Amino acid sequence: MDQPTLTVVMYHYVRDASRNPFPGLKSMDLDAFNRQVSELRSRYEMATLESALALLEGKYQARRPLCLLTFDDGVKDHYQDVTPVLAERGIQGLFFLVTGCIEEGAVAAVHKNHFLSASLGFDEWRRRFFDRAQASGLAMPTVDWAAASRTYAWDTPEVAAFKYAFNFQMPPAARDQLVDELFAEEFGDEVAFARQLYVSWEEARQMQIDGMILGGHTHRHHPLASLTGPQMKSDLDECRRILDLRLRPQFQTPFSYPYGKRDSFTAEAVHRLHELGFCCAFSTEVGRNQAGADCFALQRVDCKQAA
Ligand SMILES: [Zn+2]
Repeated sequence: MDQPTLTVVMYHYVRDASRNPFPGLKSMDLDAFNRQVSELRSRYEMATLESALALLEGKYQARRPLCLLTFDDGVKDHYQDVTPVLAERGIQGLFFLVTGCIEEGAVAAVHKNHFLSASLGFDEWRRRFFDRAQASGLAMPTVDWAAASRTYAWDTPEVAAFKYAFNFQMPPAARDQLVDELFAEEFGDEVAFARQLYVSWEEARQMQIDGMILGGHTHRHHPLASLTGPQMKSDLDECRRILDLRLRPQFQTPFSYPYGKRDSFTAEAVHRLHELGFCCAFSTEVGRNQAGADCFALQRVDCKQAA
């Protein structure tokens, strides 16, 4: 018999298109999500965190390949739209929270980028960002087309290049300062925006009651490899501390790397996740997993590739 595989599907925004105030936001429509879950369920055994870990440890010989659903960033869609769909079918999803976003009402830079782009249109947003960057005397990074398209395979080259420069090449503090200004000009109060964008702790606990598993996605959503050792440690420690403080007890707590490509995290970060008691960590490297896979570099497939 073939070795059973674990396919992990990765989702971000999943929203009811008719209720979405940001039609420019790249998201999966709820109807499409519903259909995809039915399709996946017909082809796979839908996994729980427990059965997925057992398969990876070689302790579970599944008769059909397993499929696990994962959701990054802790956006409210996951509470409002996704959890009811999954709970109704008895399927467990894994949801990864950015603790600082919920605890402090901060909007992660990556999400500010998404919403500014959705609201202004990509060309206008890029123009405003680079104008402001230039006015502040920031040096413009050289475009790394290869790295950009590898990291953002689903975007046009221009969008990928911008996102790559934004998320990986620009000095984070200066970049965030610019984005904070532009975000405030466009959307006003950041805390109010964050409260609408992300799940609350109460909603997160309700998701647990509905059978969902919650995990960590760092405290600030910075690429772990971009942080110094002490910054990385303090970010992960804070993430774990707040999860333990705010959530209901779980038998295991998983983790998902922001950005998630192999170069976005380090051996040191993996070591710290171990020490903090996370059971496994998901990357965004594309692939399926088999027994014996590295549980701290699990591969996933994007929801656009999963059907
Ligand atoms: Zn993320």
